[in-house]
Amino acid sequence: MLARLGRWLRAAGHDTLIPRPGASDAELMATARGERRLLITRDRKLTEFRDADQWVIWLRANTTEECARELGRRIRLDWLRAPFTRCLVCNTPLTQGADADIAAVPEHSRRVVNAVWRCPGCQRLYWHGGHVRRMRRRLESLAAHQRHEGDGQDGP
Ligand SMILES: [Zn+2]
Repeated sequence: MLARLGRWLRAAGHDTLIPRPGASDAELMATARGERRLLITRDRKLTEFRDADQWVIWLRANTTEECARELGRRIRLDWLRAPFTRCLVCNTPLTQGADADIAAVPEHSRRVVNAVWRCPGCQRLYWHGGHVRRMRRRLESLAAHQRHEGDGQDGP
């Protein structure tokens, strides 16, 4: 489930690793420390490492949506940092595609697409079609929700 949250973070433009299945707790902690990353987890055991308060964000929420809101609240996450600038699949920053790449867009979307982005890591192409629009609305709604909550808590 947090892998889905990870893709939302990438969609928002945040540098996000999604660990391989079966990675050990020690391995996860070593990566967090070594690369100075926050380790976002629903596994309470990870909070037992001595330096956990420095790296580990333990989420209590149960769905992807609730986890996203909890995380946003706790670290004041910017959901609109740089939307759709990273590959959702491999986390690599996207580059502008060539005109020739537009030919690879499925015909039914091509009429409305005038730019594509390429992932230099996995060569996947992205364009602003229905999927991106839906995800963008999601990010905007998370950001709006967070602003609203912030107003409630920090108001004058
Ligand atoms: Zn990629």
